[in-house]
Amino acid sequence: MDKIKINNLEVFAKHGVFPEENKLGQKFSVSAVLYTDARNAGKTDALAASIDYGEVCRFIDEYMRSNTFGLIESAAEALAEALLLRTPRLAKVCLEVKKPWAPIGLPLETVSVEIERQWHTAYIALGSNIGDKKANLDQAVYALAHLPQASLPDTAGGREDREEECRHTRVARVSKYYETKPYGMTEQPDFLNACLELRTLLTPQELLKAMQKIEQDAGRERIIHWGPRTLDLDILLYDDLVLESPDLCIPHVEMHKRRFVLKPLHDIAPYKRHPVYGKTVREMLEDL
Ligand code: ATP
Ligand code: CA
Ligand code: CA
Repeated sequence: MDKIKINNLEVFAKHGVFPEENKLGQKFSVSAVLYTDARNAGKTDALAASIDYGEVCRFIDEYMRSNTFGLIESAAEALAEALLLRTPRLAKVCLEVKKPWAPIGLPLETVSVEIERQWHTAYIALGSNIGDKKANLDQAVYALAHLPQASLPDTAGGREDREEECRHTRVARVSKYYETKPYGMTEQPDFLNACLELRTLLTPQELLKAMQKIEQDAGRERIIHWGPRTLDLDILLYDDLVLESPDLCIPHVEMHKRRFVLKPLHDIAPYKRHPVYGKTVREMLEDL
C-alpha cells in the first residue's frame, strides 16, 4: 500500500509516570506512516482524494497536548486509534512516539515506542434456537454495532456528535436469516442462522471476548456442547489470519463443512477465499 510519512513532528506535552512530568511537560516527537491508496489522488491532483497531512499534523499536536498519559505506549495506542477512527481512507498507521528528554539520568539520544494498527475485516456466524430467535439475532447485530469503546479518551470536539464515526467496530453487511436443522445434536429446536461482516480495530482475542459478553447478555448457558442456545457467535474469518491458540482458532475449524454457515456467508461474501484451503465460499458450498 502507498504511504504518506510524517517525520518527527515535535510536540510539547505532559505524558509520563512522574508527577513532575505531568506538571512541567517535555518534548515529544511523533512520526507517522499513513497507509492509504494514493493512486486516485495522484491521478486527479485533488486533495479531497487523499489524506490531508497538514490536518493530521494539527490533530496529532492537539491530541498529544490535550490528553495526558503515563506511558508513551498508551499515548501511541490512543493516538493510533483516534487517527484510524477519524481519518477517511486511512487503512493502517505506523506510529512512533519518541521521548528524547525521558528522565533516565543517563546519556541517551531518545527512547521511543513504535506500533502498527489497522482496520480489520472479520466475518461472524450467528445462531439461535431458543426463545425469540429473530429477536436474539437482531439484538446481537445491534450489540456488535454498539460495542463499548475501550481505549478512547474523551477529547475536546464533541464526541457524542460523532458517535457513529467513533466506533471501533462497524457492521458492514448482514446476510438474510435462515431457518436450519440442528447439527451434531439433532434432538433440539431448529436454528435461525446468519452471518455478518465487521470492520474492526479489535484484535481477534478482544473480539472473541466482546462476543462472549454479548452471548452471556443474551442468556447463553454452556451446558451441552452443540446443545440448544439463545445465541452463538463464532469468528469465521479475520482478514487472512491463520491462528491456532487454545481458545481461538481462525478460520473457524468447521466452517467449510457447514451449510448453515456457508449459505448465509455466501449472501455477503461469495468470493471470499478460505486462507488455508484456498477455496471461495461459493466453492466450499458447492462441495457440500
Ligand atoms: P462450534 O465451535 O463447533 O461451532 P460451539 O459454537 O457450540 O461449537 P462454544 O461452546 O460456543 O462451541 O465454544 C467453545 C469454545 O470455542 C469457546 O470457548 C472459544 O474459546 C472456542 N473457539 C475457538 N475458536 C473459535 C472461533 N473461531 N470463534 C468462536 N469461538 C471459538
Ligand atoms: Ca458455533
Ligand atoms: Ca461458539
